[in-house]
Amino acid sequence: MDIRDLIRPHLLHLKPYSSARDEYTGKSGVFLDANENPFGTPGGYSYHRYPDPYQSALKEKISKIKDIAVGNIFLGNGSDEAIDLLIRAFCEPNHHNVCITPPTYGMYEVSAEINNVSITRVNLQDDFSLDSDVLLQSINAHTRIIFLCSPNNPTGNSLPVQEVIKILKEFKGIVVVDEAYIDFSLQDSMLSQLQDFNNLVVIQTLSKAWGMAGLRLGMAFASADIINLLNRIKPPYNINEATQKIALEALDHVAEKEKLVTEIFALREEFGLKLQTMPHVHNVYPSDANFLLVKVSDARQVYQKLIEQQIIIRDRSKVQLCEGCLRISIGTPDEMAILEKALLEILSML
Ligand SMILES: *Cc1c(COP(=O)(O)O)cnc(C)c1O
Repeated sequence: MDIRDLIRPHLLHLKPYSSARDEYTGKSGVFLDANENPFGTPGGYSYHRYPDPYQSALKEKISKIKDIAVGNIFLGNGSDEAIDLLIRAFCEPNHHNVCITPPTYGMYEVSAEINNVSITRVNLQDDFSLDSDVLLQSINAHTRIIFLCSPNNPTGNSLPVQEVIKILKEFKGIVVVDEAYIDFSLQDSMLSQLQDFNNLVVIQTLSKAWGMAGLRLGMAFASADIINLLNRIKPPYNINEATQKIALEALDHVAEKEKLVTEIFALREEFGLKLQTMPHVHNVYPSDANFLLVKVSDARQVYQKLIEQQIIIRDRSKVQLCEGCLRISIGTPDEMAILEKALLEILSML
């Protein structure tokens, strides 16, 4: 597929902003080109220089961890930035549409709406599986992006790789697979398919398993054609210096991340079993992520009563196909013990 046929035409000729750090990329020198404060940062910090606009060191490290070439990596200010840039790159407002599979992550829809791009909704089935035939019949010639989320938020299940591949083969547009929770899943990442499909974008993030939600670092992996386009339209310094520095150090600790993931995994299984024994719990859905979706009687009241005790979970009970459901992120053992006690009391009194 020729990606150039999908890019909004005016972007093909865009002259990107050329920053001071683009024009001279040497590391040492007398830097009088970017109107920075030469003395430093008040308080003894050292953030007075603009950051690397292409995050070379960080991408080198991610490249080694993921075994993906630097030229196939884009970094965003959270994966939400990548989602927004993809819509802006490929969808002509008021003309193209994006396809989503509700119930799913809310940002695809919000980003599309901000960009005045309409939405084609193909609901998941009652068991939260995706019927790819129905999806392929529901899209039209103006559909430019299909957003798939696997493992899916808020349902917690993964899409079978074969289903995604079927969509990749049939659809003549961009397929985004959001793998924010892939570290918690036993299923393979779609990263292994990048070689075969130049219309595939795999999104991952440091916000979940890697424990860096506050730093805002999202990753998009795709063909060089797509990555080059994102680089041309992104804000020049979209990843700040503190994030680049801290993430670079944290990413040295892969084994520690794995250990935390294993612990969260065990806590999830343990809490899932406990939930199943509680009164008024109708379903604990299987999860490949770091949260559990649970169907209870009177979800809204349970949610409110937990709030009264300053225990905050996510009420998904008004979401289509998630009626009566609450989403619970897996916390520390202490946090889960507090939740368990409160939840048991509330459910017993319903
Ligand atoms: C949490 C989450 C993200 C992460 O977004 P960031 O902007 O990287 O923090 C992306 N996709 C899904 C489905 C999520 O649940």
